[in-house]
Amino acid sequence: MVVLAAALESEGAPSYFRCYDSGDLTVPEDALTWLGLADRMPRMRLWLPTRNWILPEFDSALAALNAHPRIIVRPSAMCFGDKSPEVSGLSAGTTSPDDNKMLGAGLADYTCPGGCGACRVCWDRPELSVEYHRK
Ligand code: SF4
Repeated sequence: MVVLAAALESEGAPSYFRCYDSGDLTVPEDALTWLGLADRMPRMRLWLPTRNWILPEFDSALAALNAHPRIIVRPSAMCFGDKSPEVSGLSAGTTSPDDNKMLGAGLADYTCPGGCGACRVCWDRPELSVEYHRK
């Protein structure tokens, strides 16, 4: 974590950081890494999409992360086409349709416009569930 924080600072710390592009917490104690990073980077917001929510042993760790004022933990749907998960103690969930023609089919509150650009919904709107589409 110290190495990651130093690397981010040397590159100019971003305001928004996604934890895991592909991957997830390996053990609940991994939450301490992200909590430590958030505390070292006071201007940065972190978004952590995860499927760890299906494993009860991660409940406390994910809730602790989501309780941090600058970390949003979103439970990811397990399968394409699932409604976005609602998990007590976490931010609103995310999902993807199993067919792009289903976009906006009510699987989530907000349909991702793609590409981020100026959008920061995933970090700034924890109450909105999000539906992504595949490219
Ligand atoms: S909803 Fe917005 S912030 Fe989230 S991935 Fe899509 S464009 Fe990026």
